[in-house]
Amino acid sequence: MTDCLFCNMASGEIKPDIVFENDAVLAFRDINPQAPTHVLIIPKKHITSINEIQIEDETLVGKLYTTAKAIATQEGFAEDGYRVVMNCGEDAGQTVFHIHLHLLGGRQLAWPPG
Ligand code: AMP
Ligand code: ZN
Repeated sequence: MTDCLFCNMASGEIKPDIVFENDAVLAFRDINPQAPTHVLIIPKKHITSINEIQIEDETLVGKLYTTAKAIATQEGFAEDGYRVVMNCGEDAGQTVFHIHLHLLGGRQLAWPPG
């Protein structure tokens, strides 16, 4: 989708601060970080929200989590703990409609979220 910010990052048209990339996923630093490490992990395939994830996407969505784990290890907070979250829709505060897993780590995180 040419009008999708994260598709334009996946295609290389817009260049974020990339942390990890392979054929299926791209991970880059959030422009407005909410923790010492705040990385967004996206599938290169456009999926608008959790509501549009199809059965055939299950393996791809799983790769977002294995990528989060690898980055948490690389950043050094895998053992201390971290949070992964995917917002879905307006009430959850989703602002970019191409699914993305937020990886937040490097500080004590409050629960419950707001
Ligand atoms: P969400 O509110 O869950 O849809 O998250 C969207 C995230 O994308 C926010 O945390 C934004 O700070 C982040 N974001 C928006 N534009 C950019 C950009 N150009 N580069 C990196 N992160 C971005
Ligand atoms: Zn997209």
